[in-house]
Amino acid sequence: MNPGRRKFIQFGGQLIGTAVLGGAAWRVLSGADPEADFTQPKGPYVWRLNPDKCTFCGLCETACVRKPSAVKAVNDQVKCSYCVACYGQLSELTIASDLIDSKGKRVCPYDAVRRKEFSGGKDGYHLYTIDQERCTGCCKCTKRCNELGTKSMFLLIRPDLCIGCNRCSIAAVCPDDAIELVHCYPEDDYRGEFELDQQLKAMEAEMMGGMDDMEGES
Ligand code: SF4
Ligand code: SF4
Ligand code: SF4
Repeated sequence: MNPGRRKFIQFGGQLIGTAVLGGAAWRVLSGADPEADFTQPKGPYVWRLNPDKCTFCGLCETACVRKPSAVKAVNDQVKCSYCVACYGQLSELTIASDLIDSKGKRVCPYDAVRRKEFSGGKDGYHLYTIDQERCTGCCKCTKRCNELGTKSMFLLIRPDLCIGCNRCSIAAVCPDDAIELVHCYPEDDYRGEFELDQQLKAMEAEMMGGMDDMEGES
């Protein structure tokens, strides 16, 4: 091997080693992001609830080994119509809009579906969110929204609450096979490792290109 090529490989190796160690150290020392809603899964597989298969039987609330359940409802703001009165929030929609907050009959037993004036006053747009501290995953709101509304509310297994049982006890009882074990590494690693892998691959490709150029010159 010519000395130029050896030097180039040594330099590349040092560069990759520094990047790997630096990345690892950063992840260890920086700890969890306090602003993050979700934390990274502990393994390459996660249990996922497929909303397209769910028929709202209610077992997600009781079958999870965690109490309260790791399953929670969320509202997709892209699908939501920002209605004055929400099917997922109210069991009775014939009520004056200014009485909804104080007297509206709730679908959720824990009053977890939150309504906030967004624009246009009391008869304008309203933002609906789910209070995650109160939600038990009973699916009453998601059932109503899917049967009568825009299907914007759905259930999910929160990765930060799920302890990743080998055999998910909800999957064992779900009548619709809606709980699926999915591979999430490295393509779905949304905490940065995938990005690091990509950087290393790009550096490697650059190195190989550099070596080819040097060989072409010699
Ligand atoms: S057990 Fe299955 S069908 Fe029942 S609420 Fe959960 S995901 Fe939906
Ligand atoms: S109705 Fe059930 S799923 Fe919906 S927010 Fe309330 S507890 Fe959660
Ligand atoms: S894997 Fe375990 S903790 Fe996660 S949703 Fe299923 S039963 Fe609950």
